[in-house]
Amino acid sequence: MHPRQQTIFALSSGRSPSAIAIVRVSGPQAAAAVTALAGKLPLPRMATRALLRDIRRDPIDDALVLWFPAPSSATGEDVAEFHVHGGRAVLASLFAALQAFENVRAAEPGEFTRRAFENGKLDLTEAEGLDDLIHADTERQRRQALRQLKGLLGDRARNWRAEIIKASALIEAGIDFSDEADVPAELTAPALARIKMLLGEIEQVLGAQRSERLREGLVVAIAGPPNVGKSTLMNQLARREVAIVSPHAGTTRDVIEVQLDLDGYPVTVIDTAGIRETDDPVEQEGVRRARARASEADLVLWLVDTPRQDHPHESRTPLWIVRNKTDLDAIAVDQATPRRETSDPSRSDAAMQRGFAISASRGDGLGELIAALVSFAQDFFGADSGGLIGRERQRQLLQQTTDALRRCIGAFSQGEEFAAEDLRIAAYALGRLLGRVDVEDILDVIFRDFCIGK
Ligand code: GDP
Repeated sequence: MHPRQQTIFALSSGRSPSAIAIVRVSGPQAAAAVTALAGKLPLPRMATRALLRDIRRDPIDDALVLWFPAPSSATGEDVAEFHVHGGRAVLASLFAALQAFENVRAAEPGEFTRRAFENGKLDLTEAEGLDDLIHADTERQRRQALRQLKGLLGDRARNWRAEIIKASALIEAGIDFSDEADVPAELTAPALARIKMLLGEIEQVLGAQRSERLREGLVVAIAGPPNVGKSTLMNQLARREVAIVSPHAGTTRDVIEVQLDLDGYPVTVIDTAGIRETDDPVEQEGVRRARARASEADLVLWLVDTPRQDHPHESRTPLWIVRNKTDLDAIAVDQATPRRETSDPSRSDAAMQRGFAISASRGDGLGELIAALVSFAQDFFGADSGGLIGRERQRQLLQQTTDALRRCIGAFSQGEEFAAEDLRIAAYALGRLLGRVDVEDILDVIFRDFCIGK
């Protein structure tokens, strides 16, 4: 039997041991498996208590069983859920019992979602949203993923694609009639108007902030000369309750990277002082990654410990000058409130360079620095603008769509054949966005909406 027709099972809840574990089964053998294990098939969508038994009738566990007959299930196939006690031996025994059925096997990663997609339960953007929701660490990531899962982008893309296919049909019809001089213009003028409108709409979605970057988060690098306090600042940030992931510590001392949840925005701070030569292969790998990430930072905090210390003047990345060790200043006494230092205006673009004064060891000024990071993140991601794009892949395909639409508009004067070709490319890109590419659609619409009668 083809692997796609086999019945699959997997642990769908967290790692064992746990209070309860949920094992999902999907496929044509699910009914037989449930009946054999639980003694009967429960009523659809009703939690039913049952003593599960293996093939030798030996009890496995006292469980709750749920039955979701096709097509009203997560995958579109027959699905069963076993809620058992989450011990390793319980799971091993249940898995062995399931595996004993012919054509029942352990699922590959993502296979349930893949089946849902193949059965039309989800489009690709929704499947991506589902994956992102599972991996969301912060509030903004969660909201963004949920928007994807709810199909906000998918729905728009489906509408755009349908519009493009309609416009194609108008143009194709125009081509067919092109021996009758005045018909094409009549048919193609509304198509051109539609395409221009669509282009505007997609451009608007593309123009919104980089919501797809929410998945990886904002990357902030702490850099500067030796001994200015980079590691101290890093450790301070890591110690604050905002740290959401335990920092990767080097074998000797400092944190290299810490992930912060700043007002729901994921922010990764990298300490370039922690990036150092090492013989430990594990640490080497960490250093290699940190270096690569630091080189792509979205913002650099350049630490100095005297007001006139040198700093990079030219930087493609926004760079904030952070003057550290203000506690050592002679005027330290009247520093109860942190002050902001403005870097030399002759050499700084206000938006690109800002100045701060902190004492990393005492924590002075850190609140203001963090607040500034939050507003930077807001500008960067768009303050909960409801960004529709969840992934780079989606942005690229939308970009390809708008490129093709722009070419199409330009090609109108040269002849409908060229315009039609660009429309096909645009529809194809959207089809890929949704995970369904099918040129037959264009022909279908021509035959359905137009009775050309030739
Ligand atoms: P790095 O090489 O830039 O990572 O600097 P470190 O974080 O290792 O700090 C260098 C030295 O400066 C250490 O002795 C720290 O204790 C000290 N230091 C860091 N921050 C401050 C600060 O805000 N005030 C004072 N007085 N000393 C600090």
